Amino acid sequence: MKIVIAAALALFSTAAVANPFAPPERFRGEPSVRYIVIPVPLSEMPKRCGQKPNPLAPLMGCAYTMRKPRLCVIHIPTRSFPNLTLSMFLYPVITPRMVLEHEKGHCKGWPANHPK
Ligand SMILES: [Zn+2]
Repeated sequence: MKIVIAAALALFSTAAVANPFAPPERFRGEPSVRYIVIPVPLSEMPKRCGQKPNPLAPLMGCAYTMRKPRLCVIHIPTRSFPNLTLSMFLYPVITPRMVLEHEKGHCKGWPANHPK
């Protein structure tokens, strides 16, 4: 019984922190550069991020670094939304926190083409 509970706890804690959009380990955590986080409705995300809307792959967020003053600007969705990517069966909902972790990776230098 103890083993079952431990396994259940391990599963639960993994589910609580897992993020299919997380950057590779070396780009995780707090950026050393100053950053601000701007919540944006999903429908406005392409405009705010300077991209064309793509109905097949809705833009979830973006980050860019200003030079003067040096500041990383992060856009995240205002609320959770259904996951339409291939990981939808494992993660049916994408939360603003998941997107924030991803975008902070870009503030830390993770290239836009998402190398592993
Ligand atoms: Zn990205």
